[in-house]
Amino acid sequence: MEKIVKEFLAKVAAKNPEEVEFQQAVREVVESLVPFMEENPKYKKEKILERIIEPERTIMFRVPWIDDKGEININRGYRVEMNSALGPYKGGIRFHPNVNLGILKFLAFEQVFKNSLTTLPLGGGKGGADFDPKGKSDNEVMRFCQSFMTELQRHIGANTDVPAGDIGVGAREIGYMFGQYKRLRNEFTGVLTGKGLNWGGSLVRPEATGYGCVYFVEEMLKTKGDSLKGKTCAVSGSGNVAQYTVQKLLELGAKVVTLSDSNGFIYHENGLDHKELQCVIDLKNVKRGRIKECAKQFNCSYYESKNPWGVKCDIAFPSATQNEISGADARELVKNGCIAVGEGANMPTTPEGVKVFQKAKVLYAPGKAANAGGVATSGLEMSQNSMRISWSRQEVDAKLRQIMVLIHENCIRYGGNRDGYVDYVKGANIAGFVKVADAMIDQGLV
Ligand code: NDP
Repeated sequence: MEKIVKEFLAKVAAKNPEEVEFQQAVREVVESLVPFMEENPKYKKEKILERIIEPERTIMFRVPWIDDKGEININRGYRVEMNSALGPYKGGIRFHPNVNLGILKFLAFEQVFKNSLTTLPLGGGKGGADFDPKGKSDNEVMRFCQSFMTELQRHIGANTDVPAGDIGVGAREIGYMFGQYKRLRNEFTGVLTGKGLNWGGSLVRPEATGYGCVYFVEEMLKTKGDSLKGKTCAVSGSGNVAQYTVQKLLELGAKVVTLSDSNGFIYHENGLDHKELQCVIDLKNVKRGRIKECAKQFNCSYYESKNPWGVKCDIAFPSATQNEISGADARELVKNGCIAVGEGANMPTTPEGVKVFQKAKVLYAPGKAANAGGVATSGLEMSQNSMRISWSRQEVDAKLRQIMVLIHENCIRYGGNRDGYVDYVKGANIAGFVKVADAMIDQGLV
């Protein structure tokens, strides 16, 4: 078995050199899938694995724009349309200086499995640009978004490819991109999700990734007769996912002791309260400031250039970026008594870290299962747009919760081990794979 995995991965590395994050994401999936495929040879015969790792289409384009000083700037834009077996390509757009093809291919690949897990008819894709919205004026961000969409619009559409937000792309950016799409195409359609509430957005979409992640962890704890009440939680990041993870944790009676950004983290020994969380939301979404500005205001500590994984906690919610928990961080978390990990971010734990968690029998929820609530609610936004109706907050939240419960059940179905430990990585990979693979077989050689 190991030999098959090794040979396959060597081919992937040779064909996609330098795309290290993509190779990492493929390795994790292939390790789960090869044994399953040996038992189900039809997938092998149809070469599904070889097909599924190759994007259906990759678009790369120039994004020229003018800054406030009148200088011309050039960025590179991308859209990776990975798999449309289950529905239109769906996945976020990321604006961050480190964006490159390898990172977007890893995210698009993960997205295929995640979207399959949601039970909704969604294919997988991902896009973005190496543009840094940090420190840019609203006008600069608008000009960039307009230029980006001027090219992207020819490749997307409500029935073709429906992008959403991700790192560096929130309500402001979605608004500017939607406006430009509408202007160029002269049509008001659900071509993007994460839209404003009064122009086609869905209630609970901003909250969905964070809420969904907490619901998933709640389900994992239930299997042990435990709950979130009174648990000490360490959260990383302070953007969209982190903010609503904290909000739901506070509602459920947990204590949140950390938040971070790319400069450092704050440690709040007594736990953040709702008022402090609102300050963080204003700081990040309106003032666009740094997390260290909260330390003085909340009378808590700030650690420059450090991540939160050295603090004592029961549950970790990595909600910033890929590979933010190393093997050493994972060992530290386990040593400090961490019993569960809910990945709000995509692939935030390194392969070594994952092994550490699984060896210590930590309840470990990989991003493709735990953070699927965001895209699931985007799917619900698409349904509401198609029907031209809006569901109430309670309706959307109930559907989101139900989807997270179903994803959890599916992970147990395919990931349950004889000793009772659930391998959620294996469960999510196989459950996500089967639906896509069967659809690909049904649709012929595509
Ligand atoms: P935001 O841009 O709203 O927030 C990102 C947060 O992570 C910020 O606090 C940012 O700090 C921090 N961060 C980003 N890059 C780094 C880095 N290299 N090192 C340390 N910190 C970093 O993004 P989201 O909250 O939307 O996304 C966070 C994660 O969740 C990503 O992995 C994303 O792919 C994933 N995700 C998001 C979904 C969504 O619905 N938004 C859905 C599913 C997954 P700073 O401001 O300093 O850069």
